[in-house]
Amino acid sequence: MAFGSEPRARAAKVGGLLLLSSALSLCAACGAAPAQNQNGAAPQKSDGAAARPSVSEVGDIRITAITHASFQLEYGGRVIHVDPTGAGDYSAAKQADLVLVTDIHPDHLDPAAIAKVRKAGAPVVAPSAAADKIESPTVINNGETKTVAGISIEAVPMYNLQRGPSPGQLFHPKGRGNGYVLTLGSKRVYIAGDTECTDEMRALKNIDVAFVPMNLPYTMPPAEAAGCVKAFAPKVVFPYHYRGQNPEEFKAALKGEPVEVRLLEWYPPEPKGGAPQ
Ligand SMILES: [Zn+2]
Repeated sequence: MAFGSEPRARAAKVGGLLLLSSALSLCAACGAAPAQNQNGAAPQKSDGAAARPSVSEVGDIRITAITHASFQLEYGGRVIHVDPTGAGDYSAAKQADLVLVTDIHPDHLDPAAIAKVRKAGAPVVAPSAAADKIESPTVINNGETKTVAGISIEAVPMYNLQRGPSPGQLFHPKGRGNGYVLTLGSKRVYIAGDTECTDEMRALKNIDVAFVPMNLPYTMPPAEAAGCVKAFAPKVVFPYHYRGQNPEEFKAALKGEPVEVRLLEWYPPEPKGGAPQ
């Protein structure tokens, strides 16, 4: 990807559309069977998305969904942005005391968006694979824990087990990207990143808030994500990064479990989200 300024934002939007349509056609081709509306289209338009809030609170932690993989956390007067990108509307967002980047793909790493949202001198935590695109990065790799901006941050592996662009290849090989576990006061917040149901995710303990992806072909479908969430049983889970999938399926699959599923508005309609999906 090129990282120019204005043309880049436009390219990102067009690229997002292409990515969406290719993801949907790939999903159809691979035999996944998402619920269909009357037009036979994928379910993202028929799942009641318009009624969802974009903000939620868990104790003293305030969560604002921006788009897809991008969100804002507020805790104790500090603002954290996760994977800020130009596809999101940051007009109402706060400037970041800390930025977290999970991976190198453009829906997670956008140097121009990071520069806009970052307070002067605020640390940007990223895996080494993403570091050369970021000014003054704070590098953390899988398995490491550092305290940055007063917040304990543990980097957890995020990777595909089976899904990739071609046989023998994975969209996200182990070791490149980071999921994160943040400790905010007494709560542990897990940001999964782009991952399938790894042993590391299943083994997590004492997670209060989790953000778990569910899209094809890049991560895992909602039912698989729900199975994984049962294993580590966070108190509250937010489906995110689910473009082309129906998070209601995830919620239904966790009915009766001691896990609260909260659905937010991750794909606001135009003009707020920039791209139509
Ligand atoms: Zn992604």
